[in-house]
Amino acid sequence: MKSPFRLLLALFASVAWADQKTGTLDVYWIDSEGGGSTLIVTPSLESVLIDTGNPGGRDPARIVAAARAAGLTRLDHVVITHWHGDHFGGAAEVAQQLPFGTIYQRAIPIGDPDGRAQSTFPVQIKPFREIAAKRVALAAGAVVPLQAAAGAGAARIELRCLAADQQFVAPTAEQLKHQNPLTGTVPAKPIDPSDNANSAVLLLSFGAFRFFDGGDLTWNLEEKLVTPWNLPGVVDVYQTNHHGLEVSNHPVLVQSLAPTVVVMNNGPKKGGQPGSFAAIRSAQSVQAFYQIHQSYNVPAEENAGREFIANHDNLTGPAAAKCPANLIKMSVAPDGRSYTISIPANGHTRTYRTKGS
Ligand SMILES: [Zn+2]
Repeated sequence: MKSPFRLLLALFASVAWADQKTGTLDVYWIDSEGGGSTLIVTPSLESVLIDTGNPGGRDPARIVAAARAAGLTRLDHVVITHWHGDHFGGAAEVAQQLPFGTIYQRAIPIGDPDGRAQSTFPVQIKPFREIAAKRVALAAGAVVPLQAAAGAGAARIELRCLAADQQFVAPTAEQLKHQNPLTGTVPAKPIDPSDNANSAVLLLSFGAFRFFDGGDLTWNLEEKLVTPWNLPGVVDVYQTNHHGLEVSNHPVLVQSLAPTVVVMNNGPKKGGQPGSFAAIRSAQSVQAFYQIHQSYNVPAEENAGREFIANHDNLTGPAAAKCPANLIKMSVAPDGRSYTISIPANGHTRTYRTKGS
């Protein structure tokens, strides 16, 4: 039997840890040159890595460095949105340095995730299969269990999967009362046969604060997510789907999520396409727009303001290893009522008020 004294000590220890990080919920957008690698660190220092960048040393090293700088010695939860190398590829190398607790994953495809006859996928996926971790199926409605922060008044935290494998959570009774007026206003695109269409969609909430990470979900599925019912509802921060490629970032999605802040996890030449910039501009709610990289797929002036861009280099291919790989950091206040986004490398920092607060 545990003594009350030991329980008290444990409680004190957890409060002290939370205080060390001042009780914030932190999100780091790590530069994987147009891959996915979003690290979440909760007030109680629990960690979630959504996607793991590319294999080949560069991105895993950047992820490990960011995680260690955040005080982590392991990754409690790793979520893989879909089976493309820029999302699951870095996992095995990261796991060699930071042990994983649980991996949340959709079923691994038998052949090629995009249905190609010739595929290197069976070879690419082998090290991923061999990672020592608990595995949990990722499906619409799944919740990544996160501990509530200690202390009275601490905001409630939840990380929930809204869609995966083209299946969606059911609309709530409240959502059913309001059909999205933007339903059917923009034409569909040809059916996407790739695994992007199956991408998992995640919503992180902390008190009233809400952050959307839709992996690489594409156009027609994005529309389905918000019409006729807006399943995610409005959010504070939108991570552009698919690195800002314009086969994703349906304007109806962006307008329906109505984010205050947009963060694009693009590379110099990967993502960041004109249609996505136009979709972001079409959302009246947007107060600030951040990019991991300046996009060289559009003229310089189409990009976000200079101080809102973490990396300005135009290094691609092997040379991209020399990119400074500056990250974007967000800290959500312990009560969830405001959040600060910063780019430590250039000194930018700005605080935004959470919508529902
Ligand atoms: Zn991707």
